Amino acid sequence: MATDVKASGNVGAAEAGRDFIRDIVKADLDSGRIKQVVTRFPPEPNGYLHIGHAKSICLNFGIAQEFGGRCHLRFDDTNPVKEEQEYIDAIKRDVEWLGFDWGEHLYHASDYFEELYAWAEDLIRAGKAYVDDQTPDEMRVNRGTLTEPGKNSPFRDRSVEENLDLFRRMRAGEFPNGARVLRAKIDMGSGNINLRDPVMYRILHASHPRTGTAWKIYPAYDYAHGQSDAIETITHSICTLEFEDHRPLYDWFIANLKVPSTPHQYEFARLNLTYTVLSKRVLTRLVQDKHVAGWDDPRMPTLAGLRRRGVPAEALREFVKRIGVAKANSVVDAGMFEFAVREVLNRTAQRRMAVLKPLKLVIENYPEGQSEELEAVNHPDDPAAGTRKIKFGRELYIEQDDFMENPPKKFFRLSPGAEVRFRYAYFITCKEVVKDAGGNVVELRCTYDPATKGGNAPDGRKVKATIHWVSAKDAVPAEVRVYNPLFSNPAPRGGEDFAADLNPNSLEVLADAKLEPSLKDAEPGVPIQFERQGYFCLDRDSSTGRLVFNRTVGLRDSFAKEVGK
Ligand code: ATP
Ligand code: MG
Repeated sequence: MATDVKASGNVGAAEAGRDFIRDIVKADLDSGRIKQVVTRFPPEPNGYLHIGHAKSICLNFGIAQEFGGRCHLRFDDTNPVKEEQEYIDAIKRDVEWLGFDWGEHLYHASDYFEELYAWAEDLIRAGKAYVDDQTPDEMRVNRGTLTEPGKNSPFRDRSVEENLDLFRRMRAGEFPNGARVLRAKIDMGSGNINLRDPVMYRILHASHPRTGTAWKIYPAYDYAHGQSDAIETITHSICTLEFEDHRPLYDWFIANLKVPSTPHQYEFARLNLTYTVLSKRVLTRLVQDKHVAGWDDPRMPTLAGLRRRGVPAEALREFVKRIGVAKANSVVDAGMFEFAVREVLNRTAQRRMAVLKPLKLVIENYPEGQSEELEAVNHPDDPAAGTRKIKFGRELYIEQDDFMENPPKKFFRLSPGAEVRFRYAYFITCKEVVKDAGGNVVELRCTYDPATKGGNAPDGRKVKATIHWVSAKDAVPAEVRVYNPLFSNPAPRGGEDFAADLNPNSLEVLADAKLEPSLKDAEPGVPIQFERQGYFCLDRDSSTGRLVFNRTVGLRDSFAKEVGK
């Protein structure tokens, strides 16, 4: 339980519910600099959203809610090569699921292509932008390095007329990809590489999900983003720290264009999690190279994957609140996320009994053909959840792990001669072990004490363990998928090396689980605790006659165990 202490240790900071960005927003409202706060969440539709995006979504939508403003959902769809309608649909679904509503404020950077183009011509006319014919290699070399200034392009001093002519012909599609770019004319000697005549437009003959083949040139992120913010009268443009060095460029465009408002950019630390990769490029590779079964594979850190795994949206919001918003990058313990999930599920999930790795057990003194119904509590802390009936009979299944033929001293569960309590039922004693030809235990022969019905002995004798079970005759078969971290390295390498850090045991399929019959009626999206095992939910791979359950999270911190190994 060490992690519970560690995780709850962080609650204090989060309960304040305040951070430096909220402080800035509050100050801007108090001083009258702004009348209403307007934020945006600006995903590029080139992949599914992940838990890192959840941090940004909760921050942007959360601020709008808390301060009576609004938050836009804007697709930053400026790179048609990697963007797809599937991603656009998935992103909308995921933001809604997380509990946020953009109302009528759904926008696309591509809605602004015409305005952005007109502003680019304005910059050319002002002598502040030029068409560069250098090859991509020449441009790279002439950009300089962190320690060396860049060199001016030989095309930097073209006339306004020539620039306008070339830029219009770029738009008209006269040149092949990569032949020319439009660059802002700022300062090739700047200490900030982003200000060394950054590219504003590149030629790209590609079909765009929204604008089709209307455009042959596409704006760069740095040129599109701030101006899109200005068009939407975004007041606080919140992004992750790697854009801090881009802020002077953001401000340069806003200052040099006749934009309708003056947004400001603020940077916060992105979410990093142990055992987790949050690079869209790597996540895309995991899907494409079939290391996982798709974007919503329950091992993926995507919102679609987490949802399918059974993680409630509330747990994500709570987790994000707890980690807070800081200005320095750090890595959050994945155990802390699990803790938040467990906390919500402990409150919301009804309890059921399920045996994941069954071992048959026969109660010799229980009459053949007889059975009885026992009363089981649906939620120990919520009487309103009620009770249900469970069947008990002569043949049961218990968990293989709950039996040991030669137990060590501290093993209190079933072993030859030992007596334990069967949850909601009786005290049961193991009399005999039946083995197959290979020496494997295949069945236990036991007796029960009828006087212990309900779980207590009238003579006051005690047992040290209570185990779960299901009635063999009534049990429902199911496949249970147990997920372990997708990466076995706490700090998985991104980049090309990611595959080397994959955990070969990230998915364990238990094909022969036995569930109590009420689980036949389980519904997708409704969490259930399998007593003593963890939290589970029905997977969408289920069909009539074939139930499939996902383990959302175990009852104990799996990452702490990992470290202790
Ligand atoms: P890329 O730009 O490489 O495709 P990205 O993860 O930055 O990937 P975007 O779609 O641009 O993806 O992200 C949308 C928003 O989510 C951005 O404002 C970005 O700063 C924010 N974001 C992305 N990753 C994280 C993260 N790990 N933690 C917090 N915010 C994030
Ligand atoms: Mg990005």
